[in-house]
Amino acid sequence: MTRRPNIVIAISIVLASAILAIAVWVLAQMRDDALRRAQDSVFNVSLLVERDVSRNLEIYDLSLRAVIEGLKQPGLLELSPTIRHMVLFDGSASAKDLGSIIVTDENGVVTFDSQASPPRHINVADRDYFKVQRDSPNVGLYVSRPFTPKIASKETSIALSRRISRPDGSFAGVVAGTMRLAYFRKLFDGMNLGAGGSMALMLSDGTMLMRRPYDPKIIGINLTGTANYTRFTQQPSGDFFGTAAIDGVERWYAFRHIDMYPMILDVALSTRDIYVGWRRRAWIIGSLILSLDATIIALAFLFAHQLQRRYAAEEELRVLARTDGLTGLNNRRTFEEHAEVEWRRAQRNAWPLSMLLIDVDSFKGFNDLYGHSAGDDALIGVARCIAQSVRRPGDTAARYGGEEFAVLLPDTDEAGAIGIAEKIRAAVQALQLRHVASSHHVLTVSIGIATTLGQSFATSRALVNASDEALYEAKDAGRNRVLCYRALAHPLPDTAAKAPGSEARNSI
Ligand code: GH3
Ligand code: MG
Ligand code: MG
Repeated sequence: MTRRPNIVIAISIVLASAILAIAVWVLAQMRDDALRRAQDSVFNVSLLVERDVSRNLEIYDLSLRAVIEGLKQPGLLELSPTIRHMVLFDGSASAKDLGSIIVTDENGVVTFDSQASPPRHINVADRDYFKVQRDSPNVGLYVSRPFTPKIASKETSIALSRRISRPDGSFAGVVAGTMRLAYFRKLFDGMNLGAGGSMALMLSDGTMLMRRPYDPKIIGINLTGTANYTRFTQQPSGDFFGTAAIDGVERWYAFRHIDMYPMILDVALSTRDIYVGWRRRAWIIGSLILSLDATIIALAFLFAHQLQRRYAAEEELRVLARTDGLTGLNNRRTFEEHAEVEWRRAQRNAWPLSMLLIDVDSFKGFNDLYGHSAGDDALIGVARCIAQSVRRPGDTAARYGGEEFAVLLPDTDEAGAIGIAEKIRAAVQALQLRHVASSHHVLTVSIGIATTLGQSFATSRALVNASDEALYEAKDAGRNRVLCYRALAHPLPDTAAKAPGSEARNSI
């Protein structure tokens, strides 16, 4: 487990970002899919409608050709009107939305009429299809602009026409069949395009023939110059996002020129309809993912906070385990660990290592006189004197037990150790804690010193024993003083050197 709770937060943010990135990617894919489905749909509808329209136009054109062929039959005029009608129009298409087929002479007067025999009195010389066929011999099948027929249904229609030429090529009239625009309207209405969808059929010159949604006012208008129509004219078929000039709605368009006929068909789904399902799902998925991310990050913050608290508590426990509750100095266990480490290091590097053992003088008497609580306060004061005198980073001061304290001074020779010990002794005396039972009248300490340099100690324990020995000597010498251990004077059980009889004290 990491010791840095912020890593938990960082990991959660990375995780949340990854989830968000995946969600964004999936939503983008779903959006693409929605568009692709719409593209397929408009493509299929446009193909279907184009086939239906071109098939009907083809059948109707075949009827016109059949009439022209019939007119070429010799002796046609000698036949009775009924037989003649049968010869000319029996092969003609007679679907519901196909109107009448008429034959005119070169002046536009109707000479044959599929709906009536004898023909109704009509002149079509003013119609565009008549003029075009008269003036352009090679126009072939011509699809007229929308118009209202002069007779019968009066429903807006277009006319398909072909020229009738004499053997010498001169103009002899036209054959024309009307087709009700209602046919396209019904065809368009049968397709499923959604609420905002649109379809339009126009002549190649931009004249609107039929549009869904239906509006009679648009029939016959010219779309030349509009952005969409311009794109329709550039390719035989295609698709694109565009905005309709008629209603300003943005849509996905698929258009195609009707095979063999001068017409353009477009089918479009509104952008809004295309993405409506996706948008609803994106809202749901998006908000779920965002709340999931927020939960992950919030939990990470909570967890990091708990970790931080746990580490702080552990650290507190660690400090408590290492320190003495009354004085705040290191406890004996910590001191012994340090002593072991420093003793080895001193051995390795041939550095001096000094140890002070400090004992409060006549403390039992102090307690008896002033009470245990005052005794505790005095111990705290002594500890402060020690801590203030021992300032180097490597030095360790500890409460060794009861009213005894110990100080470890790495890389410090005897002279340095004496200096620090004397400083402590003087500081305690300077506290001026009254102690009437003491010969010094104030609270004092005695300090024993042992230094490794020039003397050999087998273990760190032997060093402690040596300083204890010196402390004992200091007590013996009258207390409130500092004494150094001399090996030769007082051999210790675990020291090799033995020289009984010589003077041990080295008072300062
Ligand atoms: P000496 O000068 O020889 O050291 O005499 P002394 O009275 O200090 O020695 P002794 O070891 O007989 O007495 C130590 C006393 O320290 C005994 C005990 O009541 C007292 N003492 C030990 N720990 C504490 C403590 O935490 N608080 C208080 N108030 N007294 C303590
Ligand atoms: Mg003692
Ligand atoms: Mg004592």
